[in-house]
Amino acid sequence: MFEKTYDVVVAGAGVAGIAAALECARAGLRTALVEKTVLLGGLATTGLVNIYLPLCDGYGHQAIFGIAEELLHLSLRYGPGNVPEAWLREKCQEPVTGPRYMTAFSPASFVLALDEALLDAGVTIWLDTLVSEPAMAPGRRIVGLEVENKSGRGVLRASIVIDATGDADVAYRAGAPCIEADNWLSLWALETSLAHARAVAESPGRASLLEEVRVGGDANGRNHPISQPKVHGTKGAEVTYFVLEGRRLLREMYRARQAELGPDGRHQRFPVTLPAMAQFRTTRRIDGMETMTTDHPNTALPTSVGLVPDWRRPGPIWEVPFGALVPRGVRGLLAAGRCFSADGEAWEVSRVIPPAALTGQVAGITATLSVQRGVTPEHLDAVEVQQVLQGKGMPFHTSAIMQSEVAGNKG
Ligand SMILES: Cc1cc2nc3c(=O)[nH]c(=O)nc-3n(C[C@H](O)[C@H](O)[C@H](O)COP(=O)(O)OP(=O)(O)OC[C@H]3O[C@@H](n4cnc5c(N)ncnc54)[C@H](O)[C@@H]3O)c2cc1C
Repeated sequence: MFEKTYDVVVAGAGVAGIAAALECARAGLRTALVEKTVLLGGLATTGLVNIYLPLCDGYGHQAIFGIAEELLHLSLRYGPGNVPEAWLREKCQEPVTGPRYMTAFSPASFVLALDEALLDAGVTIWLDTLVSEPAMAPGRRIVGLEVENKSGRGVLRASIVIDATGDADVAYRAGAPCIEADNWLSLWALETSLAHARAVAESPGRASLLEEVRVGGDANGRNHPISQPKVHGTKGAEVTYFVLEGRRLLREMYRARQAELGPDGRHQRFPVTLPAMAQFRTTRRIDGMETMTTDHPNTALPTSVGLVPDWRRPGPIWEVPFGALVPRGVRGLLAAGRCFSADGEAWEVSRVIPPAALTGQVAGITATLSVQRGVTPEHLDAVEVQQVLQGKGMPFHTSAIMQSEVAGNKG
């Protein structure tokens, strides 16, 4: 057994865990970030999900600021992709005209920049380290995480733990009430083809040498193979099934392509990278002290700690209630990213990269306040978190970003 002590330990280094760890470390807390793979970024990198969805509402108002915006720019530091020109200008009160504030990026390039940012901030990174069980004290108080890696088993002790596993694994094992959802069978990979390489050579402005290849169901289940069941992804066997079936669909697709292209087909078009983690959109999330619900787009919530625009269409913005990050029944724990408490449409808009980073940063702010005050998160008032957000220029009410509406603006 090895044992280390920190102020905050973050489980899972997807964008949510990264934003949480950056926030805590920059506030001066001893911060550990624990990741079971050897890559930082979670689904956005290891999972090959390489579209940083919009930070704006589609009518030219930026809704998400802070580390989520910083990460969007970091995703481009060592690779291709562009932020729409209009969003690079000095921030002003006028809505921005033009395309939405989003970008595609190279997952490997993003990893390089994430390593750099976390090390610069002084985060202690534990790669290839699996979080197994929460370490619990009497009174349902989480006091750290049991982990396993090449050194053997150990415990990382902390005043506050942040569950950014994407699957609420820590919260669930600590006994917090959780909700499970299910997934259409699908797989995203990256491929290359002679045809695409030629097109890139002929128009050098094109962003990427690689192409996305997608099989199975999309977010709405279109193209899901009818005979296949949906999968929760909270059991080991389900994860294996989901991954192997996705790869079987990909083999089917390449067999069909090779039949079209003839014996030379395998040289002309082939996969280059497969996701190294299961691409579940949702598995399990906390049933928190509050829930961001479908009923409340464009509604001012007194406990709001952030804004989530709709990535699918211009217009709606949801406010994130503080309690959606606070699990019930366990003290000393926060949840961030795709396992915070949201349901229905509200979940569909918040389960993507920018809101994951936003909730990660808010969890980091909350953890910092908790450590500084010597209390657990459920004893904090949302107003205290809002004061910190205000100081960082991060809006948490829709009214704050709607000062100058321009009808018909497409940005
Ligand atoms: C097919 C698909 C397409 C998508 N398309 C888009 C898109 O186009 N744009 C967009 O913005 N979003 C998209 N998303 C959603 C988006 O990728 C994720 O919701 C977001 O990246 C979630 O970030 P996260 O940090 O909450 O979780 P994750 O990225 O899941 O990160 C969790 C991290 O925790 C680690 N972890 C888990 N358990 C443990 C453990 N026990 N011990 C140690 N580490 C652990 C994992 O390895 C991982 O690194 C898509 C998702 C899928 C599946």
